[in-house]
Amino acid sequence: MRECFELRDTDAGGRIGELTVPRAGVTVETPALLPVINPNLDTIGPRRLADEFGAEILITNSYIIHGDDDLRERALEEGLHDMLDFPGAIMTDSGSFQLSEYGEIDVTTEEILAFQREIGSDIATPVDIPTPPDVSRERAEADLETTQERLEIADAADTGEMLVSAPVQGSTYPDLRERAGRHAEGTDLDVFPVGAVVPLMNDYRYDDMIDVVAAAKRGLGADAPVHLFGAGHPMMFALAVAMGCDLFDSAAYALYARDDRYLTVRGTRALEEIEYLPCSCAVCTEHSPDELRALPDPERESELAAHNLHVTFAEIRRIKQAIRAGNLLELVEQRARAHPTMLDGYRTLLDHAAQLERSDPVSKGSFFYTSHESARRPEVLRHHRRLERLAVPDSLLLTVDRSAPDGGYDDVWRVQPPFGPFPRALSKSYPLTAEVPERTDRAALAAAADGVARLAETNPDAELTLAHRGWPAGVLERVPDGVGRIDLAADGP
Ligand SMILES: [Zn+2]
Repeated sequence: MRECFELRDTDAGGRIGELTVPRAGVTVETPALLPVINPNLDTIGPRRLADEFGAEILITNSYIIHGDDDLRERALEEGLHDMLDFPGAIMTDSGSFQLSEYGEIDVTTEEILAFQREIGSDIATPVDIPTPPDVSRERAEADLETTQERLEIADAADTGEMLVSAPVQGSTYPDLRERAGRHAEGTDLDVFPVGAVVPLMNDYRYDDMIDVVAAAKRGLGADAPVHLFGAGHPMMFALAVAMGCDLFDSAAYALYARDDRYLTVRGTRALEEIEYLPCSCAVCTEHSPDELRALPDPERESELAAHNLHVTFAEIRRIKQAIRAGNLLELVEQRARAHPTMLDGYRTLLDHAAQLERSDPVSKGSFFYTSHESARRPEVLRHHRRLERLAVPDSLLLTVDRSAPDGGYDDVWRVQPPFGPFPRALSKSYPLTAEVPERTDRAALAAAADGVARLAETNPDAELTLAHRGWPAGVLERVPDGVGRIDLAADGP
């Protein structure tokens, strides 16, 4: 285990954890949001972030502070905590973003790490190379090599109690992201930002974002705290948490407010177009949309930023509650309906069901089947694997109905879409207590048929009969020929 991070609870790939930040003397519960503070203009001051919004941690940019004579002097003299007036933990970025935007910066990793330590940062960042998506493999590899050299410099530097992050790069090449994750894991660095994903999110490429995170996680291992660098829209938090992200930073709350954009968990709305405010934060209960629109510029921006932050923190709390209750994937399914590209993201998440299954609890409250994607959840995969280990009698009836035809079978097992067959002894155990719609869809039937097939393939000598109710031919095709069939819809009472 990494000393600074402890897992408390998991659901799918999501987790509630505790990040201990020794220099700040605080423990931050994850998933956590780090509001981004621009040291030159704070829309909502750090003290207010702590007192009103409950922010335990924020992020600001040490490179901007370093490059501004006034700010640099003040930060060196007063320390970052007093200068910003923030009681929680402060993470600092290093100028990597500026490097990716402008092509060069005028500090080295050694200099900026030493500066971050001098000004009292709690979590520092080396100058990594944020490689954009879709670049040539040669470039991605060369950039990654430079990033890894910087991480080794950071690893060797004297950073005292300050935590240091180890960004994971590799563009859109999963094998490079995995390799980068493994390299970062091999250092003594503490927090692991998955870098350069902002262009993916700006282009709504949530599917590619999930592949990138999944690859980085394979390299990093389970106990590494993962920061999705630059991800601040609450719409995608549940999805990213389910893939195993622990930290998010939001500049979005302020940037969107500046453009009169109102954040919701289902996407962004233009203030201009809103007739009703779908939120019960103080801003939204005290103003009508017309009143908000009529406010003078700085005040409107500040009110919108406050709403945007409220909705963002509320989503983090909702996600934590979902992890505790064991229904994070149900929340992801809801969020996936907000935008077709979010649905692509969720479907891609389910491509990694085997990876998620490793941290998914064996038992939870109850499994709700709420979309045909539910048929690909990690619980279904796990049940299919379990079928390979169950003892099967010589002759066995598998039936979708409680009232099964009598045929002198050695035993009768229920078939529950989307899981497939299970013995009576398991009937009260998760996930077989699932709530499934009466109008079962084809994906659930197909997954159940795959369960029957798995049982048949593992037990080639057993005599299996499947009693289904009007399953379509395309679903029945998934069941091996050796399994007998009874259609209860045709033959039943
Ligand atoms: Zn609101």
